[in-house]
Amino acid sequence: MRKKEFEKIHRELQEEKVEILNRLMKDRANYYENLKNEGGDLADEAMESIEREIIYDLSIAEKKELEEINTAIKKLEEGTYGVCEMCDKDIPIERLKVKPYAKFCTHCREIDERKKKNHVMSEENE
Ligand SMILES: [Zn+2]
Repeated sequence: MRKKEFEKIHRELQEEKVEILNRLMKDRANYYENLKNEGGDLADEAMESIEREIIYDLSIAEKKELEEINTAIKKLEEGTYGVCEMCDKDIPIERLKVKPYAKFCTHCREIDERKKKNHVMSEENE
């Protein structure tokens, strides 16, 4: 049963990956178009640096998403998917369906979040 669900998640992640890549390409294509239309007076060099910055900003969130998808796909292919990185127990399938890149089971995620919160709090006190 779990294996079947994993196959579905695998397929969905691959589709999502293609979608993000397509969106990135389209963003870039649109961006080049706008630059051509509006940037007539800019020197080539200035255009290039602005271009690099915008493409960089544009893709940070998507890069992160892609990374998470790639990690999940790799795990699916290696057979290590769906196992909590902290306690090695199976992550409930219900959780994976909602959050396919989940690294921790519900229990460990709470511990992890509490740790992060404490960390932020202790930093603020210093
Ligand atoms: Zn766990």
